[in-house]
Amino acid sequence: MSPPFAATVLTLYPEMFPGPLGLSLAGDALARGLWTLKTKDIRDHGIGRHRAVDDTPAGGGPGMVLRCDVLAAALDAAVAGDDPRPKLLMSPRGKSLTQARVRELAAGPGAVIVCGRFEGVDERLIAGRGLEEVSIGDYVLSGGEIAAMVLLDSCVRLLPGVMGKDASGAEESFEAGLLEYPHYTRPRDWEGRAIPEVLLGGDHAAVARWRQAEAKRITAARRPDLLKDRGGDIKEPR
Ligand code: SAH
Repeated sequence: MSPPFAATVLTLYPEMFPGPLGLSLAGDALARGLWTLKTKDIRDHGIGRHRAVDDTPAGGGPGMVLRCDVLAAALDAAVAGDDPRPKLLMSPRGKSLTQARVRELAAGPGAVIVCGRFEGVDERLIAGRGLEEVSIGDYVLSGGEIAAMVLLDSCVRLLPGVMGKDASGAEESFEAGLLEYPHYTRPRDWEGRAIPEVLLGGDHAAVARWRQAEAKRITAARRPDLLKDRGGDIKEPR
């Protein structure tokens, strides 16, 4: 067996972890050793008696910037030179995280994740340590920790053995370039709303056709951009 997916998170708030990743699917997987999580407190490498990690921005302006020397020392202490894992910086300027990138990361050895705070990090760290900037969406958080948790949660649920059925990831939103079809469960009638008849008939091919049509209808209505990205590659139901 290959070694488990290994996450190392550099943060000023290591006590935030595992947090939500210690519960439910991700937490069970962590307890079962299907992935590992280490945190590195950036402040361990802070400067002086007060362990300073930040300073005022060159050129002036509001807020504080995380120092490149402090972050590099923390990274170098946490990660060996030949570590094969991608080094990521959570950042609203990064490429938006997609399910395709999540799949790639989940198939790899793990990730080293730097969490920014304040106004962000000194630009020289990004080039000096070859960090890949990753955003979780077009809005600004107060720190990279929750973004790192989003990234790790999305990776961990794809690791072999984490989800109940191996197939349960394949039909989900984004996997076939479509949003997912609607789900129903008991009761059969609720407040005058019935489960669509086709789902109760036991005709698996009809169910697959209905789900595919619904997925296309919902995607066209909500995310026409996904249909465009999909081009001619229309996947038919199995
Ligand atoms: N001044 C920066 C925002 C800093 S927010 C700017 O305007 O771009 C502080 C930290 O929160 C960032 O360094 C980053 O690590 C994290 N962060 C904020 N929004 C994020 C997002 N959408 N995706 C990923 N990380 C984010």
